Amino acid sequence: MKYSLTFPKTLKKAPSGAQSLNHQLLTKAGFIHQEMAGVYTYLPLGWKVLDKISDIVREEMNSIGGQELVMPALHPGEPWKKTGRFNSFDVLFKLKGAAGADLVLGPTHEEIIYPLLSEYIQSYKDLPLYLYQIQMKFRNEPRAKAGILRGREFLMKDLYSFHTSDDDRDAYYQKVREAYFKIFKRLELPVVKTKASGGTFSDLSEEFQTITPSGEDIVLVCKDCGSATNREITEDKKCLDCGGSLKEEKAIEVGNIFPLKRAYAEVFDLSFTDKDGQKKIVSAGCYGLGISRTMGAMVEVFHDDKGIIWPESVAPFQVHLVGLDGLGEKEYKLFLAEGIEPLFDDRLNLSAGEKFADADLIGIPYRVVVSKKTQDKLEVKKRSEKQTQFVSLQSLLEMLKS
Ligand code: ATP
Ligand code: MG
Repeated sequence: MKYSLTFPKTLKKAPSGAQSLNHQLLTKAGFIHQEMAGVYTYLPLGWKVLDKISDIVREEMNSIGGQELVMPALHPGEPWKKTGRFNSFDVLFKLKGAAGADLVLGPTHEEIIYPLLSEYIQSYKDLPLYLYQIQMKFRNEPRAKAGILRGREFLMKDLYSFHTSDDDRDAYYQKVREAYFKIFKRLELPVVKTKASGGTFSDLSEEFQTITPSGEDIVLVCKDCGSATNREITEDKKCLDCGGSLKEEKAIEVGNIFPLKRAYAEVFDLSFTDKDGQKKIVSAGCYGLGISRTMGAMVEVFHDDKGIIWPESVAPFQVHLVGLDGLGEKEYKLFLAEGIEPLFDDRLNLSAGEKFADADLIGIPYRVVVSKKTQDKLEVKKRSEKQTQFVSLQSLLEMLKS
């Protein structure tokens, strides 16, 4: 992509209402635009990042047998009344449809997927089943000041698994947990897994938390074994796993997995006929991962005073090619031909300093400068490092492909 054609360009200043760092940096760099508190447009650069995060999540969900579908954001009110959450879900958006029908904007999808499956599941042969979606959720959050960490509209991956027995569900739960660790490893975002309370219809859950001072959760991490719990539930002063002492840390909840969700199956009579001819209730788990919150968490963790420092896994482009003295077109075409994604700052009449400042703000992993001064070499600098080096185009290509 040529930066001269990219919409929008960087801003000199963050909007005055932007309180959190991810909101400020992502807005200045041209990734998001706030429409109202908790509601954002994902601009082309921002959507690319969300897409890359989604693709990694998708691959890992598919690798544990997940099948992707998309359920509606607009829900009928009835199933929400049936579970009692029409009145008990504190951040539920409710609205009226034609002829005054009660409607809900989906904050999660148990009320859709359980009735849906109860129409299809009959026999043990129809199970297990793993269904997931990547979709916008709606929650009327009272505080929405943390940028895309806490949206009123936000992108979530939610997986639901359905089984003939609790044992089968527990075995799958372990697989999902491993898949989550793989996802965060591939995203290059450090996480700790914490034990947490289950929330509605579940006794226990585990959260994936990114430790960072801007987090709204407080987790207790064991100084000895690294095991962690959410402070909301625990009254323990010592680590339950090894007896070590606990340290309080602020953290962002990026994922949450629940092994036990039988109650919904009972409410919606999601049952099957087992091998022995007996009717049984389906055993289920549900597994959330905040895609847009993960993007925000990355900015909170990976930045410096000049801007964002994207991990290579999700950066909108691999290379920020800075053309000076009207040069760079040849290298741009070569990168494209080699399958390397370049953002080419081809703008004329801008100083090197202005272009470098934009590159630092946008945060693409490699900055490559072509100018009269560099001659037949290229000046290469990693966004995360200070030193620059002069390399030939050939060795740069090898470096980027490895
Ligand atoms: P929180 O405690 O932060 O309000 P939650 O526990 O209510 O979140 P879950 O229902 O567990 O959220 O949702 C699954 C995942 O979706 C969370 O782990 C988080 O990553 C993400 N998420 C939840 N609420 C929001 C939000 N308002 N904005 C962005 N992401 C969110
Ligand atoms: Mg949660």
